[in-house]
Amino acid sequence: MEMALALKYRPRRFEDLIGQDSISQTLSLALDSKRLSHAYLFSGLRGSGKTSTARIFSKALNCINGPTSKPCDVCDNCIAANSGRHIDIIEMDAASSRKIDDIRELIEHTKYKPSTGKYKIFIIDEVHMLTKEAFNALLKTLEEPPNYVKFILATTDPLKLPATILSRTQHFRFKKIAKNDIVHHLETILAQENIEYQNDALEIIARSGGGSLRDTLTMLDQAIIFSKNSIDTNSVTDMLGLVDPEFIKGLFDAIFLKDMQKIKELVFELENYEAEMVLDEISQYLKDKLFMVEGKDLKFSPLVLDRFFRIISDSKVLLNLNSDGSFVLLLTFLKMVEALNIKDVDEMIEEIESEIDISKPKPAAPKDIDNSKKEQNKESAKSVEKSKELQNQKRFELLIEKIYDRSFDCGECFSQNIGFVSFEDNTLTWRSKADGSCKELLRDSYGIIKHFVQDIYGFETKIKHTIWEIEDSDDDKIEKSTEVTQESPAQSDTSDTEEEQKKNDNLEEKKSEEELFKERVLNDLYVKTTDRLFGIKSVKVIRWEQGDLQHLEKSPN
Ligand SMILES: [Zn+2]
Repeated sequence: MEMALALKYRPRRFEDLIGQDSISQTLSLALDSKRLSHAYLFSGLRGSGKTSTARIFSKALNCINGPTSKPCDVCDNCIAANSGRHIDIIEMDAASSRKIDDIRELIEHTKYKPSTGKYKIFIIDEVHMLTKEAFNALLKTLEEPPNYVKFILATTDPLKLPATILSRTQHFRFKKIAKNDIVHHLETILAQENIEYQNDALEIIARSGGGSLRDTLTMLDQAIIFSKNSIDTNSVTDMLGLVDPEFIKGLFDAIFLKDMQKIKELVFELENYEAEMVLDEISQYLKDKLFMVEGKDLKFSPLVLDRFFRIISDSKVLLNLNSDGSFVLLLTFLKMVEALNIKDVDEMIEEIESEIDISKPKPAAPKDIDNSKKEQNKESAKSVEKSKELQNQKRFELLIEKIYDRSFDCGECFSQNIGFVSFEDNTLTWRSKADGSCKELLRDSYGIIKHFVQDIYGFETKIKHTIWEIEDSDDDKIEKSTEVTQESPAQSDTSDTEEEQKKNDNLEEKKSEEELFKERVLNDLYVKTTDRLFGIKSVKVIRWEQGDLQHLEKSPN
């Protein structure tokens, strides 16, 4: 194997630094304007580019053209710096040389002028590891170093530094390198190395690197060997011991189907993996669902995701208590299934909250003073009416959304076949043209749809179901509609047969047509479902007059 990628592609210029644009810009400006501090502190995650930046900065100071943001890379100073052998650039690792004697030796060094460069530069890595005495010794020199001395302190843990150190240095915070920047860098390297790859595989490698470019490149080295020069998702997940994203997809399919048997089987397959890592992979999968814009999976609503994330974090606590991994995983997935069941309660609370919001009086818009009061009142009454109607239609859209959220297919059926007519006197009237499998699906879901309706329109809400006749071209045609009112059993006992009889008498001449209607009503999916659920004692069939129908047709607009 040739040179490690991290070494081969180590940045040599500020513009090569990945994901730290603002830092390289500020340092470049400082170099070009010669406004230099005598001590710098670079803090940030491991592998975020602190040491690389320190080396480039040192070279930029000592280049024959320096200080410059664009070191020439050809002078003796640059060449020595690039190979890490510059006599005036001294690197020290405070993790291994942390004692006061080490610092005394370093201070001794500062007394001699640089030999070939303009500056003597001390790079102290992991500076937070120094002992208290060592810090105190360093402090004096930091305060007033000779003008040819520069300090660059690097740390992953700036909070462990004494305040006195922080106040004497110019602090640069290196942020975690964004995954996209890392992926982009990997692509560039692989293109230069002439190695094939799958994008998803690079994503996984970048993710596992946790924002450290160095770690990511080490993994890329391994992946190249492991996958024999063609990096794909399979070999990468294998190499890293990760769970294949496809497997996780299958797992969630089983969870949403509440397929306990399948879930148990999948947990059995997961026995070869570290349980904590599986939970991390699942978290990542869910995060991706949350951020997904195109092809968003409606099953994974924010509410469901929130529940799942909480369950995962609970499971991690359990794992820390040394619980058996498979047991915790199984528990996690079963809790997720449970979480789907109690979804309704939260929805109800949410709805009640939004109800309260809607009913709050809104401040009236300022009106022209010239308008007569009467006009105003009329106007505002109209607009109240209008906004009420709008609100009710809005709520209907919300209803559709909720049904979609519960089941995509059902949402499709509902939105395409059921139209809003009105909402008055606690009765939601809609019209339906559903038939075939759609009708069946809606019938099976009637219970939950009704539940949503009552969530949105109030607990007292009744549903009035009318048939959505397909209009033909004849304008004179009188449309018919049927109204089905669900009666509470207490009221319905006595009068209804009588009433029905009367109606039938009145409509005698149209009986055959009426019979047809009745038949249709009694066979209607909602009537049947309502009957199944609540036991209908009577059904009123009322013929609608033309005037009503016009109103009926107009209101949805
Ligand atoms: Zn140079």
